[in-house]
Amino acid sequence: MEQYKDLEIRCPRLGGEVTFGYCMQERGDLPCPRVITCWQTYFPVETYLKKKLTPEEWDRFFNQPPGDKIATIFDIASALKKKKQS
Ligand code: SF4
Repeated sequence: MEQYKDLEIRCPRLGGEVTFGYCMQERGDLPCPRVITCWQTYFPVETYLKKKLTPEEWDRFFNQPPGDKIATIFDIASALKKKKQS
């Protein structure tokens, strides 16, 4: 991930800049469910994910539950707060 992790785009969910490294950890051990949609115009992210994720992770990635929106908002806010502090 080294070659891509510091790339930045504007996150449609947060409305601010985030790095690809953040997107890859947005769900803890799984990437954000939107990672392919958000990054596919910048590099072959799906191919990258297939190489990076184990078959079990790939399966969980595509079968992620939508999750509690409030919990997701708090998770993102917490992650951004940590990012600002580092
Ligand atoms: S992949 Fe997720 S966290 Fe990353 S920019 Fe897209 S919506 Fe935001």
